[in-house]
Amino acid sequence: MFDKPETIDDLFEMQLKDLYISESQLIDALPLMAEKAKDGRLRAGFTRSLHETEMQLQRLETIGEALGLDLDGYICKAMKGLIAEGQETMSERATEEVMDTALIAAQRIEHYEISDYGTAAHYAKRFGYTEVAELLRQTLNEEQLTDTKLNGLAKNYLNQKAV
Ligand code: FE
Ligand code: FE
Repeated sequence: MFDKPETIDDLFEMQLKDLYISESQLIDALPLMAEKAKDGRLRAGFTRSLHETEMQLQRLETIGEALGLDLDGYICKAMKGLIAEGQETMSERATEEVMDTALIAAQRIEHYEISDYGTAAHYAKRFGYTEVAELLRQTLNEEQLTDTKLNGLAKNYLNQKAV
């Protein structure tokens, strides 16, 4: 392990560790988000997202094993901050609609993951780790799909309800 990355390989390793811990941090945070969601579709979405995130973590474990890397033990400060900000908006005094609209803003987490997976997949491809790149792209596609679904929820009814 290194203190600060010096090579592109170090950066790639850091990126994978960041993804690994980000998904773990999300697995801890998603049950509360599902619990707070009032709309059935939103609640189901968070529950599905939890299962998907568990699969994504497993995918990263597979990648770690393939590359001989232990990905555990890092902390993603960005994800920690995003989750903390999300929790700040879960006000006890919010109406159901406002709570759901605030929860939909968890979309910013998807955007962070999309950018992180995109970078990692790019590194993997550059290093010739074709299968690893493919696994990372699989998760990237899932994150993009979740983002699209949240867009749909936001546009279709939640924002209308909240105004
Ligand atoms: Fe994820
Ligand atoms: Fe991070």
